[in-house]
Amino acid sequence: MNINRRNFLISLSTTLGVMTLNGCQISEDNSSSSVTPSTSPNDTKLAENLGGFQLTPLPYEYDALEPYIDQETMQFHYGKHYAGYIKNLNGAIAKYPELKDKSAEDLLGSLNTLPNDIRTAVQNNGGGYVNHKMFWEIMTPNGGGKPEGKIATAIDESFGNFDSFKENFNAAGGSRFGSGWVWLALGKDRKLKVISTANQDSPFLTGDYPIMGNDVWEHAYYLNYQNRRGDYLNAWWNVVNWPEVNRRYEQAVR
Ligand code: MN
Repeated sequence: MNINRRNFLISLSTTLGVMTLNGCQISEDNSSSSVTPSTSPNDTKLAENLGGFQLTPLPYEYDALEPYIDQETMQFHYGKHYAGYIKNLNGAIAKYPELKDKSAEDLLGSLNTLPNDIRTAVQNNGGGYVNHKMFWEIMTPNGGGKPEGKIATAIDESFGNFDSFKENFNAAGGSRFGSGWVWLALGKDRKLKVISTANQDSPFLTGDYPIMGNDVWEHAYYLNYQNRRGDYLNAWWNVVNWPEVNRRYEQAVR
């Protein structure tokens, strides 16, 4: 190898090295100690080169939520859809370095102050990032049952009892036309409410705090349930991680 080519390659790898380091900022809310990093072999690869916002770990294996959510759905949902939102979010904010230290929640909460050309991308992909980050964590293989702690009391006070809350939630998820989410959110008035949002719209956009949400995009259930969204909505309660939902509620009311 002649000396010029060698110098060029060294200079190129140094440049790439710096770019990689700059791209490795750790997402600020990626540190929950209760989350065990997935041992799935693909995850390390998936996390590479995404940029400032990183793929948060899936706290269980892809097949851990079966039979309620199947392995293949989880693989595509986490590895393709979730990773895609993060990549696109990083792409949108890359040209505005002044935004790179903001949390995704802050970006969504102040969408109207962002540069015009990235608002839609942040709404869709920042929403996709924040919504799914919550979604993985409020599910668990040993889930289901009834709510516990302060959220249990709050649900009873707001909806009468747990069953009527579930009915309310399933009805809102079932009647969302097209793609979207159904939420239990804490409003600005500090009251709990069931709401539904379209696409990847986050409750943070309107100043509400998402306590828990279920993904009713077809990508979340179609491989296993096809058009039976109602069956998916019913089955989903078997994987809800109530301690984590309660933790989010306590954080929201603090
Ligand atoms: Mn999804």
